[in-house]
Amino acid sequence: MIFLDNAGTTKMFAECVTTYSHFACDEFYNPSAVSRKSAFVHAKLEEVRRVCLKKLGALKGTVIFTGGATESNNLAVKGAVRNGDFEYVFSKGEHPSIFNVARSLENEGKIVKYIGLCKDGKVDLAELEKTLNKKTKLISCMLVSNETGAINDIKKIVGLKNQLSPQALIHVDAVQGFMKIPFSVEDLGVDMLSFSAHKFHGPKGVGGLYVRSLQLIKNIVDGGGQEYGLRSGTENVPAIMAMHTALSMIDVKGNFEKVTNLKRIFNEIVSQESDIKILDFHGSPYIEILSFKGVKGETMLHALEERGVIVGLGSACSAKKAGNRILENIGYNKDEIISSCRISFNAYMTESEVKEAGNIIIETYKEMLKRLS
Ligand code: PLP
Repeated sequence: MIFLDNAGTTKMFAECVTTYSHFACDEFYNPSAVSRKSAFVHAKLEEVRRVCLKKLGALKGTVIFTGGATESNNLAVKGAVRNGDFEYVFSKGEHPSIFNVARSLENEGKIVKYIGLCKDGKVDLAELEKTLNKKTKLISCMLVSNETGAINDIKKIVGLKNQLSPQALIHVDAVQGFMKIPFSVEDLGVDMLSFSAHKFHGPKGVGGLYVRSLQLIKNIVDGGGQEYGLRSGTENVPAIMAMHTALSMIDVKGNFEKVTNLKRIFNEIVSQESDIKILDFHGSPYIEILSFKGVKGETMLHALEERGVIVGLGSACSAKKAGNRILENIGYNKDEIISSCRISFNAYMTESEVKEAGNIIIETYKEMLKRLS
């Protein structure tokens, strides 16, 4: 099976399973208890926190361990909400774990503003500039789109924020960027940033929220006060330690180059069929969209799976829903959207795998066209 849905999730490194097992069955102690064994586990978590900060390029702040990016995103946004005459700004390209939080805020009567996307899949900076003001409390904008791979210019967004809404916090959902494209939180100038381990070959159900200062947000769950009081509940030590193993195994720059090359090889093959359109937003090399003229994306997905290739239909959370909010926003028509599949690579695939996948995609497309004619 050739797996081309790595934006949905990635295969966990075998080494992570070994680490997980060790911290689940041998060093299984509660990091908040007082025994020496617990102190040892606590120290291990602090070590992982430091490693996360280093990988994020953070000189200050901390990382709150969470149960994945949906939770990190909820904590960042809901934790920043305050009573009063404030405005909250989101891009229209956000993942449901932000977009639906924004909708909830709206339902609660908060003033929520949405910024559209340009043809290149990026947030419309001119619209953002018109929207930001002295009442803006929070701006949340993703780094890399999980749907298109487009990369937002977060530095420019931070620049606009500093100029027009210096009081506002800026949160970035970096799930599709962390450990995939080189960046640093200091360089971007963000206040909060979410990440998730299962997108970089770590376990599912664990991730983190970087916060520049613990004072920026309030907790959204009450409990024992773990994670500086911002995320109560016993830490998922085996998963955090397994995430650490994944962090230590990845060479971000090397992988970036490798995937750029894999995507180029793949595109050379699929572009031989002129009715397969590559919607490449020239952002992350890890993600692109293929549009199959005259054949539904879902039909292609199932036919490809039968032939040993797994592709995506867009975000796993939205894949079962009709249409695609993001592509609609960018300006694609219904036919183009309905005939599209998301292709997402990982750095551990071989050139021959992507070549084989490209050829299978072309053959399958021709077969489907014949069946439909
Ligand atoms: N944000 C983005 C951009 C994503 O792609 C995803 C997962 O698809 C999430 C958030 C949610 O992450 P998790 O599965 O860790 O909750």
